[in-house]
Amino acid sequence: MWRLPTLDGSTTIGSMNQPSSAATTLLHVPLPADAPPGVYVHVPFCRHICPYCDFNTYSGQEALVPRYVAALLEEMRLLVRAEPERAGRGAPTLFFGGGTPSLLPAADVARLIEGSRAHFGLRTDAEVTLEANPESVDAAYLEGIRAAGVNRLSLGVQSQRRAGLRVLGRGHKSLEAGQAFMAAREAGFENISLDFIYGWPGQTADDWEADLATLLEWQPEHVSLYALIVEPGTPLHAAVQRGILTPVEDDRVADFHERALEVLAAAGWEHYEIANWAREPRYRSRHNQLYWQNSDYFGLGAGAHFHHGNLRGGNLLLPAAYCTAVERGELPRMATETLSADTALGESLMLGLRLLVDGVGADDIRARHGVDLAATYAAEIARFTALSLLEWHAGSRLRLTPRGALLANEVCAAFLR
Ligand code: SF4
Repeated sequence: MWRLPTLDGSTTIGSMNQPSSAATTLLHVPLPADAPPGVYVHVPFCRHICPYCDFNTYSGQEALVPRYVAALLEEMRLLVRAEPERAGRGAPTLFFGGGTPSLLPAADVARLIEGSRAHFGLRTDAEVTLEANPESVDAAYLEGIRAAGVNRLSLGVQSQRRAGLRVLGRGHKSLEAGQAFMAAREAGFENISLDFIYGWPGQTADDWEADLATLLEWQPEHVSLYALIVEPGTPLHAAVQRGILTPVEDDRVADFHERALEVLAAAGWEHYEIANWAREPRYRSRHNQLYWQNSDYFGLGAGAHFHHGNLRGGNLLLPAAYCTAVERGELPRMATETLSADTALGESLMLGLRLLVDGVGADDIRARHGVDLAATYAAEIARFTALSLLEWHAGSRLRLTPRGALLANEVCAAFLR
């Protein structure tokens, strides 16, 4: 799961992250203005709520799933009617995020993929990702969604240490995660991403070593490593406030991150985004790269966000309210916002600099925003290049240095005026 970053660093922008020296392959980055939109489908249901979670998700509402799936299909129709040109560009990616998308029956996943083909021209070579929790999948389910067209599985492992799973309040056991991974391989998934969390209360260096060893042993194609954030309003935050749990100190979290950098670099992984590694460049998350390129995407479902040029917004949060709005024939929007040209430009920099290999292209910025990157940000670029925090790469791409990635929050924020 991936959240839109905020400047306060409350999501996955880690102040201690840095790219590995293995990060050398520059992939073609499409011009954001020309890029067809991806499609994000939010599934806001979980069997139980993990104590650290602040996503838009609800437990005990699975009875709503049939109505919710019908609403998603109807929202597709409403979006095509409202924005036929945009919907007709042919979607390169479809991402089922949550929540727990693997709570959707495989037949419903198939209907939604079919709907995306019919309404958004989902391409035959599209990346189709589904997030799954280990306890919610078995061999038959994985075969079902693979046959439906899901070609990338994102598995929420989080930790293989019993203490980690317990303190994170996960609903699965470590054995189930291993079984889910193997079952996914047997079902034909050749592109699997694993999520791990580090910095959980009580985590030792040995715990983290063991999780990194598991990661290397399993050999997924992609991995996302997130430092645990104690979000206000969560049960985890309350436990910390009451002194029941003690967060890992920032320095130790930084040590864990640096150890991950070493281990994955030594194994030849590409650190292509602050919290994301690919075993080979072709396994980078195509969908999430649309976010980091500040490109366009549709967001369907309760609480989903969309982005269209300088317009962005989100849907109603509550699943029932979302369904009711769609059933009335209304786009279920909660809010939309038109960004100023300066803000949109700053966001392109803030997001693009997360891409540790590709960075931000001067040509892309000119095509998308009509400005000269070097001239517009001359002062910021001079300051950060003098500090060896930013560098020009391949002639015209601005990116963080390994040292700059350690201070990504500060550097990225300087580009938002
Ligand atoms: S499974 Fe994921 S989305 Fe659901 S409650 Fe846990 S962290 Fe949140």
